[in-house]
Amino acid sequence: MPELPEVETVKKGLQECIIGEEIAYVTVYYDRIIQNTTVTDFCKSFIGQKIVDVKRKGKYLIFIFQDVILVSHLRMEGKYFIRHQEEKAKHEHIIFGFISGKTLRYHDTRKFGTMELFLTTNLKEILKQKPLVNLGKEPLEPDFNGTYLHQKLLKSKRPLKSVLLDQTIVSGLGNIYANEVCFYAHLNPSQPVNTLTSEDFQNIAISAKKVIIKAISLGGTTIRTFVNAHEISGRFQNELMVHMRKKCCICGGEITKEFVGGRGTYYCKNCQKMR
Ligand SMILES: [Zn+2]
Repeated sequence: MPELPEVETVKKGLQECIIGEEIAYVTVYYDRIIQNTTVTDFCKSFIGQKIVDVKRKGKYLIFIFQDVILVSHLRMEGKYFIRHQEEKAKHEHIIFGFISGKTLRYHDTRKFGTMELFLTTNLKEILKQKPLVNLGKEPLEPDFNGTYLHQKLLKSKRPLKSVLLDQTIVSGLGNIYANEVCFYAHLNPSQPVNTLTSEDFQNIAISAKKVIIKAISLGGTTIRTFVNAHEISGRFQNELMVHMRKKCCICGGEITKEFVGGRGTYYCKNCQKMR
C-alpha cells in the first residue's frame, strides 16, 4: 500500500505534469471507485475545469480545480499515469481527458481505491468532513511531537505498532514505515503504549520524522508496484533497516518476523527489547 512518502512522490509527479491542464471529458469504467455522487454528476462537474494544484493529506491526494475538489485514496494498488491518446489499458478505471490531448488515467488492479468529489474549493470545509476529518497529525507537522502522542495515547494499552498504523493518531504511516519507526526508536513493536515514558514518545515522534524525511527524499519505497506519475520507482527499499530484512544492521542479530495486530512485523529482539 502506498504510504505517505509514496503519495507525496506521486503528488510531486502530478504537479509537474497536470497543473494548468483543462478537462475536456471524464470517462468512468468502474463506478464503485466514486463514493459520494453519481457517475453522471461526477463526470459533468469536471468539464472545463483547470487543475489549480495537487495537494496531499495523510495518504490522500487532493486535486484542486477551479470550482471543485477531488479527494483520491490509492488504497492497495491505485496509481496515476499520464498518457496521450492511447487506447484504454487493462485496469484503467477512470480517464480524465485534457484539452491538450494528454490524459490522466487512474489504474488499480485491486479496485480498492476511492474518489470523493466536493463542489467547493474551500479546503478547510473539506478537512472538516469525511473522509479527511478523522485524520491524526502527520509526522512532518510542526506540532507532531512527543506531547501530542502522549496525550492521544494516555489510556491506550494497544501495541506501539498498532497505534502507529492508526490513521486517527498518526496520519500517513503504513506497515513498512511503522516497522522502521519502531526500529529507529529502539522500541518493541508489541510494547503496550501505556508503559511508554514521555521520553519514549518524544523519541517515537523524532524517529517518525526521520524515517519519513529520508523516504520522501528517496522518492518512497518500491516493494510491490508503486510508481509515480512519471513511472519512476522509489529507492527507499535500499535503506530499510528492518522491514523484509534478515540481519540487524546494528548488532548483526537475526531480524524476527511476527504478526502484531494482524500485520507482518519485522524487528530485532536484541535492539528492540520488550520492557
Ligand atoms: Zn539488533
